[in-house]
Amino acid sequence: MLTSFSLSQLLAISTLYLLALFGVAWISERGWIPRRIMRHPLTYTLSLGVYASAWAFYGTVGMAYQYGYGFLASYLGVSGAFLLAPVLLYPILRITHTYQLSSLADLFAFRFRSTAAGTLTTVFMLLGLLPLLALQIQSVADSISILTHEPLQERVALAFCGLITLFTMLFGARHVATREKHEGLVFAIAFESVVKLVALGGIGLYALYGVFDGPQDLQQWLLQNQSALTALHTPLQEGPWRTLLLVFFASAIVMPHMYHMAFTENLNPRAMVTASWGLPLLLLLFSLAVPLILWSCLKLGATTSPEYFTLGLGIAVESETLALLAYVGGLSAASGLIIVLTLALSGMVLNHIVLPLYQPPAEGNIYRWLKWTRRGLICAIILAGYGFYRLLKAEQDLSNLGIVAFVATLQFLPATLSVLYWPNANRRGFIAGLLAGMLVWAVSLLLPLLGNVQTLYVPVFSTVYVLDDTSWHLAAIASLAANVLIFTLVSLFTEASADEVSAAEACAVDNVRRPQRRELLAVSPQEFAAQLAKPLGAMTAQKEVERALRDLHLPFDERRPYALRRLRDRLEANLSGLMGPSVAQDLVENFLPYKSGSQAYVSEDIHFIETRLEDYHSRLTGLAAELDTLRRYHRQTLQELPMGVCSLATDQEIVMWNHAMEDLTEIPAQQVIGSRLDALPSPWRELLVCFVDLNIEHLHKQRLNLDGQARWLNLHKAAIEEPLAPGSNGLVLLIEDVTETQLLEDKLVHSERLASIGRLAAGVAHEIGNPITGIACLAQNLKEEREGDGEIEEASLQILEQTKRVSRIVQSLMSFAHAGTRTHNSEPVCLAEVAREAIGLLSLNKRSHDVQFFNLCHPDHWVSGDPQRLAQVLINLLSNARDASPDGGTIRVSSEQQGDSIELIVEDEGSGIPRAIMDRLFEPFFTTKDPGKGTGLGLALVYSIVEEHYGQISIDSPAFPDRQCGTRIRVTLPRHVEATSDEP
Ligand code: ADP
Ligand code: MG
Repeated sequence: MLTSFSLSQLLAISTLYLLALFGVAWISERGWIPRRIMRHPLTYTLSLGVYASAWAFYGTVGMAYQYGYGFLASYLGVSGAFLLAPVLLYPILRITHTYQLSSLADLFAFRFRSTAAGTLTTVFMLLGLLPLLALQIQSVADSISILTHEPLQERVALAFCGLITLFTMLFGARHVATREKHEGLVFAIAFESVVKLVALGGIGLYALYGVFDGPQDLQQWLLQNQSALTALHTPLQEGPWRTLLLVFFASAIVMPHMYHMAFTENLNPRAMVTASWGLPLLLLLFSLAVPLILWSCLKLGATTSPEYFTLGLGIAVESETLALLAYVGGLSAASGLIIVLTLALSGMVLNHIVLPLYQPPAEGNIYRWLKWTRRGLICAIILAGYGFYRLLKAEQDLSNLGIVAFVATLQFLPATLSVLYWPNANRRGFIAGLLAGMLVWAVSLLLPLLGNVQTLYVPVFSTVYVLDDTSWHLAAIASLAANVLIFTLVSLFTEASADEVSAAEACAVDNVRRPQRRELLAVSPQEFAAQLAKPLGAMTAQKEVERALRDLHLPFDERRPYALRRLRDRLEANLSGLMGPSVAQDLVENFLPYKSGSQAYVSEDIHFIETRLEDYHSRLTGLAAELDTLRRYHRQTLQELPMGVCSLATDQEIVMWNHAMEDLTEIPAQQVIGSRLDALPSPWRELLVCFVDLNIEHLHKQRLNLDGQARWLNLHKAAIEEPLAPGSNGLVLLIEDVTETQLLEDKLVHSERLASIGRLAAGVAHEIGNPITGIACLAQNLKEEREGDGEIEEASLQILEQTKRVSRIVQSLMSFAHAGTRTHNSEPVCLAEVAREAIGLLSLNKRSHDVQFFNLCHPDHWVSGDPQRLAQVLINLLSNARDASPDGGTIRVSSEQQGDSIELIVEDEGSGIPRAIMDRLFEPFFTTKDPGKGTGLGLALVYSIVEEHYGQISIDSPAFPDRQCGTRIRVTLPRHVEATSDEP
């Protein structure tokens, strides 16, 4: 009569199904499925469908039978949680990602900075979820026995457990490090949701169109069977409904499998947005089928208990396909949940029970040890679920089992909300509240379940309280109330440690974390690795440090204290992903401690706040946004200030380094912000450290040699109070580059000196002129008087010769001296003409060696000035060039127009001028020539004449760098404007 399957058939189907599931996971892990699809929000949303476990697949029909529309609570509760995603789920996702917390226990251990919190959460989670695991096992065993008509549940259950253990290990514990995301798992669970949807949808559609004849027939039937409808309505007003809503709301976040899929395995944070409406939609589709299945089974008078109506429908209409569809759907729901739940729980047990008690020796391969321990735990947890199932002797309703589990997890809701919204909560409050809630739960729900007793004396209500199917919600409310009350009171009346407060701030929604600024004992990543090698082994430590550096995009030779602090935080987060936050915290605190001496100075990291504010920028609104704009404006002002600005914290850590500073020092801000002042490269370190230590506030004209060039700097400093560390003083340094001014001043001083020497020379020349004329006269007389006296005549000739020479010097001295004082006429001068004259004059001197002069001046180049004086300039420059040139050398005079000025260029191919004397060329009396050959006044005169003409002079030597010879002198003179039109 009825469709019947053999046991082996069903087991084969189950194995095949699980193999297919594993195949899907395997394929996606091999990367055969495009990343685009793997990270698609739809995949994520479907993977969250793990929520619909066997309990939802089978149990909700039973619930609809029992509670009427109350069954919708499971759908509405979780939808509520997901619709609140921006304020509820997204912040948790952020914390989970930032600190690599892979479970609720991790989250609590991190937030309350307490291993006990994590352990307690794990223990209770385990205890609370055993009924849920048992439920899945029971549902599979029951459905098999319904289909085979053989009461073989227990052995079937064991076989199923063995199978699923194997697959769970394959899914989740194949990888070396636990923090690796299981892309394959995500995809497999998403696939499973599709299977469930197809199964439930198919059965629902069959119910609508197969059992009933479409919606109209259903309407008809409902009218005839009013009781079926009223049964759905009546209990809505009562307590269980609201409690169910709350319970399912909480389960969306706190259930380990939901937490695991929603946060830990999240591949794409943005997918959360889609899931916030996608998951409710998916669950709506699931629940649409429920009343249809219920009514059709009522109509057909299905023989199974209402809980298995989904399966019963197929049996009632004797359709093998339908029954099998229901079986596979149920199997998929159960296995999906078991796999994810066990993975999540095994991670929790590993991190919070095993690792705090025993840590693997540093010599071994920690990754492998972790993998195998986790496998063992998976085995143990599934076995425990099986044990629990056996303990209950399969006599419980699915919905009862589910509710006990859901109420247990409800106890974690207050603490979860406090993580986000109540920074004052502390670990004592959490532990006390949790213990109280769990105690009430155990007494009022777990014990009755275990003892299989229906009546139990519960002192809380001080009356005889009968626990039955409808009053469980009182137990739920009582446990939650006790929990919240004690949690709040204890938190309010006890103090939290500084560590905990900082963790609380880190977790609170929209809080910018302000890490403390202390100095670490280890000063380089290498030291980090060396320290961590003690507990982790050298290989693992090195790997972890490298990984953290990579995550932060820091170089391997990083030494900035700020960066090292971030490295430490990152290491803690990464290790937390590997071994749980308690152990990670322990390791980091013990092996990467802060310097104890620096403890006194605890301030907050302004730079870090700044970076975080940048991230938050787009999310700020109202006053906060305006303040942020103001902050940016001020910051901009400082950054763009045309003066170097650098601010220091009390411990001389560089907090700001503006653009002018970057330009001046050629050190990018990126490289110095967060490091100590004494870590700056030379010569800046010496300069700034010295200035900071000085007791004066301004330092003028500090000379600094930068790449062989002298720079002059003015330094200023002022103390500023650090806004986030009252009582400690930072410093702001201002550095002004006054090199330009200094050079101008030097020039001024130089010409001033020249002028004063000129005046002196004039006076001396004048004074010497008269006696010399006297001596010349006397010598002349003597010569004439002693004509014929050879010796005396010879001597007087010598005297005359020497006095001539003295007069020549005096002459040039006079002309040099008068250069600065004489007013000269300004007229148009043709440079080509002047050059021709000068060359002509020089050529008269037959005594010196032969050189060739080339006059290449453009005849149209006119300047305004004094032709005589300009000729003097050229004569001096040309004679210098001739002196420097070898025999037969060439000397070119040329001119070039540059805007409003004309450049007169004298170029030779001679010896060139050594760099060392370049600075002194224009000094009067500076010469390299033999005594009697040069006076050293030539260039000095040129300089003062050019100056008189408002011109400039510059020297290039060597002019021909390839031959290392020659000199080029450029004299820039103002152009005569109408020159070309006036003159021929
Ligand atoms: P003097 O010619 O009397 O030595 P100057 O003031 O004219 O004095 O020149 C100063 C010095 O500059 C010279 O002694 C010479 O060493 C150097 N000097 C000037 N012009 C040239 C040049 N064209 N090539 C090489 N050295 C030069
Ligand atoms: Mg000269």
